[in-house]
Amino acid sequence: MPISKEQITTALADTPSPAGRGSLADCLEWIATCEGAVSLKFHLPSSADFDPVAITAHKAVRTLAVGEGEPLTSFTAEFVDQQGKTIATRSLGGGAPPTSAPVASPPPTPGHRPIPGLKTPDNPLARVKHIIAIGAGKGGVGKSAVAVNTAVGLARRGHAVGLLDADIYGPSLPTMLGLHSLEQSVVAGKLQPYAVHGIKAITLGKLVDPDKPLIWRGPMAHGAFTQLTDQTDWGELDYLIIDLPPGTGDIALTMAQTLKLRGAVIVCTPQQVAQDDAVRALRMFQQLNIEVLGVVENMSYFVGDDAKTYDIFGRGGAEQMAQRFGLPFLGAIPITMPLRIHSDTGEPIKNFDPAHAGDLLPRALETMTANIEAQAALAAMRTGAAGPSLSIS
Ligand code: ADP
Repeated sequence: MPISKEQITTALADTPSPAGRGSLADCLEWIATCEGAVSLKFHLPSSADFDPVAITAHKAVRTLAVGEGEPLTSFTAEFVDQQGKTIATRSLGGGAPPTSAPVASPPPTPGHRPIPGLKTPDNPLARVKHIIAIGAGKGGVGKSAVAVNTAVGLARRGHAVGLLDADIYGPSLPTMLGLHSLEQSVVAGKLQPYAVHGIKAITLGKLVDPDKPLIWRGPMAHGAFTQLTDQTDWGELDYLIIDLPPGTGDIALTMAQTLKLRGAVIVCTPQQVAQDDAVRALRMFQQLNIEVLGVVENMSYFVGDDAKTYDIFGRGGAEQMAQRFGLPFLGAIPITMPLRIHSDTGEPIKNFDPAHAGDLLPRALETMTANIEAQAALAAMRTGAAGPSLSIS
């Protein structure tokens, strides 16, 4: 069992704070932990010396992890002021604590093209109504295809939509949206999202050298993700769709720590093994206190040239999994040649056009999009963020 929030709180309560009297737990605001990655938020005056606090907390958490026989894969300490504004972040690896002060920002990455002069606003996503993450237990189940088609589908329903490709291990948006010939531009210190297919999109795939594979460690992933959220000129959006990396880990943790999400959608194929992975993704979102809006079954059935449908993977498996966990089922997407072709050619809009995609695929994508829209609205109502309402007396 990975170490829990309660264990971390206890360990910090037993650790005197190097920033003054009392223990580290006294200035602790927030803990997130997921699969060995730990993130802590401390409330300290801006004059405090953050490094000793980060190092001491890291040591306490690492000692706890070692004692429990669990790996600590990454560790981040964030420091906030009275208003809750972040004043410093210290990211340390999961291994032994450093003997010198840790670095404040991600180290330079081979292949990463840093963009000079980017500015971070105070509350970068304040004008985004619904932030929805699309996740999957493992790669190759069509998570990016679902993210792209959800974004385009919501735009077709009249919404202002942004799409953020946070799949640092294999960004697919440059291909799926046809961005290869476009240049990333920066205006007034902000990354300008690409305006394509009726949506705004940004991807790490355009900021790293595609020929140089990156080995992302916790701090780098944290830095790259916050750059895409904080330093992009998103403007006012109804929806920001985030395509997460497969599995569980650093990006999801950073996302939970830095953004106020409306919820997450889990993409799953029908087979039993895929469901097992999807359950792991579900557990991760639950651990991170992110509401799961529902499950999409991708590659649900195959539509042949004869227009007949074939249940090659055992249609309905993901729907059963959704039922088992009391989650809404958001729709079944068939495996079709047009979807694969339009993903490769960067023309997702054609997936919604019966002239290019037949009848079943557009209908399935529209149903999925409408269900996601409805679940986001319900989640907003549950959290009291449904917007203004009329009161009639
Ligand atoms: P993931 O993001 O889960 O790794 P992708 O969305 O990149 O997966 O999909 C992997 C490949 O499968 C891509 O080439 C994509 O176009 C294709 N694909 C995904 N879903 C479908 C589908 N329903 N029908 C046909 N091809 C699909």
